[in-house]
Amino acid sequence: MTNVKFPEVWDLESVFAGGSNSEELRIQLDRIQVELEELKNAVSSIVAEDSKSILNVLELMKEVYINMGQTGSFVSCLQAQDMTDKKASLLRSEISSLAANFAPIKLQFQQVLSGIEEEKWAELLATEELSQFNFTLNEWRDETKLKLSEQEENIISALKVDGYSAWGEMYDLLISDIKIPFTIDGEEKELSVGQANNLSSHPDATVRQAAYEALEKTWTEKEEFFAKTLNHIAGFRLATYKKRGWDSVLQEPLQTNRMQPETIDAMWGAIIDHKAPFAEYLKRKAELLNTSTMDWFNLDAPITASTETISYQEGAAFVIENFGRFGKKLEAFATNAIENGWVEAENRPNKRPGGFCTGLPLTKESRIFMTYSGTMSNVATLAHELGHAFHSYALRPIHTLNTGYAMGVAETASTFAEMIVADAAVQEAKSEDEKIALLEDKIQRSVAFFMNIHARFLFETRFYEERESGIVPAHRLNEIMEEAQREAYAGALNVAHPHFWASKLHFYMTSVPFYNFPYTFGYLFSLSIYAKAKEEGSSFEDKYIALLQDTAVMSVEDLAMKHLGEDITEKAFWEKGIRICEQDVEQFLELTTQKG
Ligand SMILES: [Zn+2]
Repeated sequence: MTNVKFPEVWDLESVFAGGSNSEELRIQLDRIQVELEELKNAVSSIVAEDSKSILNVLELMKEVYINMGQTGSFVSCLQAQDMTDKKASLLRSEISSLAANFAPIKLQFQQVLSGIEEEKWAELLATEELSQFNFTLNEWRDETKLKLSEQEENIISALKVDGYSAWGEMYDLLISDIKIPFTIDGEEKELSVGQANNLSSHPDATVRQAAYEALEKTWTEKEEFFAKTLNHIAGFRLATYKKRGWDSVLQEPLQTNRMQPETIDAMWGAIIDHKAPFAEYLKRKAELLNTSTMDWFNLDAPITASTETISYQEGAAFVIENFGRFGKKLEAFATNAIENGWVEAENRPNKRPGGFCTGLPLTKESRIFMTYSGTMSNVATLAHELGHAFHSYALRPIHTLNTGYAMGVAETASTFAEMIVADAAVQEAKSEDEKIALLEDKIQRSVAFFMNIHARFLFETRFYEERESGIVPAHRLNEIMEEAQREAYAGALNVAHPHFWASKLHFYMTSVPFYNFPYTFGYLFSLSIYAKAKEEGSSFEDKYIALLQDTAVMSVEDLAMKHLGEDITEKAFWEKGIRICEQDVEQFLELTTQKG
């Protein structure tokens, strides 16, 4: 008898009743419009030297953040659960334009803050009203100080629409236009880039290689379009930085992630010192696949034919049970979320691919989206997204303006939750093949963060350096990428993927520059917290929650020092996390030694 205890379809009705026709949502969106007007007036008539006047603006801002967060998340849920919901897309545009109206108001407020005299500023921050916003206000003020005047920044923002973001949109258009002729199972098809990429994990080696070759051929034919797009995105960025007097391309991403350059240097330095085991793993994988070398098109190849499946009911119970081994609060939180319709897991058509967790700041809940098809990796995704939701839950008592955590720490709670479940899965594997598959799943993550992401970081740093002295042609981009891959994969790669720079959306994202190193940071940062949790047992949970509550009000260096007593500008810290990953490799090599 199956026990259907956990709903597989989420509850959106309790958020706003009526889906994309919701009356309640309409009222809320109209309210935001009014609130933005109010905020605008408050900023225009602000008395800069008066703490109460500043607090008034902050409180109005908080309302806007909460209501935009609530409506924005709800609409994301509508779009994800049914990609054909046209009304939801219209609502999305409406929310985007509300956000666009908010941005200049915030900038104007930041300019006011940056104009306040040092001494007066210190006094203001010491007042009862403003002391809790110390970090956030200082950050806003400093950010503005590093930029040009309000007028000049406004010109840049206006020019960005056609001169910068447009190139990012052009990339999406170029990608969506590509059709790759491909024969699979005797049938001739036209694949999208996404579909062709998905063949990288196809069980048949000839299919994997053919898909790789078809993709490289396409990239070669179109490389000039992509090289032009990439060069102009970089050109705009560099020109802006130059005007602002910024001499490093890393300044913006480091600032956004509240990170010191020493921290990234220490992190990559430690990784570079410890690549050997992962190169060893790749060598073994090649042997298991009966090839003499590891090539790009075999990196994602499956090495076992594990067909174990696990129902959603069992999977959810497994997550709850293992969370309980770490801490009672996480367990109770997950039970409540799963039982009360926070999770959309059903496998049905028209759903968006992938998974996410989105916060509902007004009702102080979250919603998790995924498509559960019964694999252990689905169970890990459920744990991952519940980890994100737990982060939001931990931040509930914190003022909204103090909860804007950056990408580097955004994946802390999620990776942590995923590790708990991934480790338990390996331990409880029912067969040796399953154990090998689950272990490999974990190692693949390390390879992605230590090698693939590292290659992206090396490429981007070097490309931007060369771009400073002019356009970097496609053939040179290929060279830089191939070199970066050979280096990042520590010599373990035979056939590389020189056009990777054309295939990866992340290089063309105009909202976030250098969308790479924060992934690796988050992964290793989270692993070291995980190691501490294992050491200290259930008494660690309260410390963990305290750390999460501070994720948006201090630099990552201060966060680690305060809550872990660790200096993350030193390699030694990073080596501890890498050590955990090396142990997975050791176990994998041992288990597969006969099979090689
Ligand atoms: Zn995540």
